[in-house]
Amino acid sequence: MSVKIISRSAWGARAWNGSPAYVPLSSRTEFFIHYDGAHHITATGNSVPQAIDRQHQAQGWAGIGYNFVIDQAGNVFEGRGWTKQGAHCPNHNISGIGVQIAIGGDQEPSEKALAAARALYDEACKKTGRKLAKKGHKDGFATACPGPKLYAWVKAGMPAGDYDAPEAPASEKPASWDGKSFPGASAFKLGQSHPAVTVLGQRLVAHGYGRFYKEGPGPRFTEVDKDATQAFQKAQGWTGSDADGYPGAETWKRLMAAPKKATAAPAKSSIVALNSAVKPGATHAQVKELQQLLVKAGYGPIKGAYTTYYGPETQKAVARFHNKNPHLKSAGVSYDPVIGKKGFVELQKEAGRK
Ligand SMILES: [Zn+2]
Repeated sequence: MSVKIISRSAWGARAWNGSPAYVPLSSRTEFFIHYDGAHHITATGNSVPQAIDRQHQAQGWAGIGYNFVIDQAGNVFEGRGWTKQGAHCPNHNISGIGVQIAIGGDQEPSEKALAAARALYDEACKKTGRKLAKKGHKDGFATACPGPKLYAWVKAGMPAGDYDAPEAPASEKPASWDGKSFPGASAFKLGQSHPAVTVLGQRLVAHGYGRFYKEGPGPRFTEVDKDATQAFQKAQGWTGSDADGYPGAETWKRLMAAPKKATAAPAKSSIVALNSAVKPGATHAQVKELQQLLVKAGYGPIKGAYTTYYGPETQKAVARFHNKNPHLKSAGVSYDPVIGKKGFVELQKEAGRK
């Protein structure tokens, strides 16, 4: 069964009273089932979401708080939809898609309603590229919702016979992946999840490509994973389709191997030149680097570091460096607080740069 969603305009929703926040599909990790409350509901059709919409606006909300509502006839009504923040379970309105099945108390949910809810769940997994956690409202908040019948159904895994299950999302497929060997190209599709993507990211980080990741790595194959993979492939000397950002068997093999020093460290010299503005008393961005190098090479401590100010403490550390390396001192001075171009290069070498 495919999901046909009845739009807000089709069922006659009121205009939003305010504007519910946008939530990207990537933030969705849970799927919550609710019921309507203590009383049996006999109505089906547009009057069902309309009543909830009125009630939720009356309590000062923007409008109907559920992402979707399903009646006993199996109709699926759009509420906040896929990408608007709901108001259905505190602390779970961003991570959770909230769906009310319009029954109450110990009322028996219809086969049609359950089939529609299950189809909606499958659609949500497809859209988000992950297997959403199946939850009842009471899993996130102290409440009787979604009542005994629906809660038992959720805990049983939301079975529903009366529909054709869509293709399982990628995250459900690789039950047989061993966690190590190349999982096949199909594991790396943009926007889709696979446990191998997490391993890919971890290996890229181990090989020195952590700078690509502001967060993660995680199971979803994103542009970030692709860019990091491509950088790794180019570092192997590969070009064209060999460096397209999609891991193949050879990329995988090399990533799983221990990182080579040469791969982790930049191949080119990392020695930098001294900016001529860096001198005692001056303020310059490179002073911070100078201080870090001095401390790393053992000429610290530098009280108050790290700053951009080439103050007395920095000068003392430079003098200590010069006392250890008298040939780098300016001619004729015993106390030399002035770092020179040649001295700066030597200092970087002492600090471990190549
Ligand atoms: Zn609820």
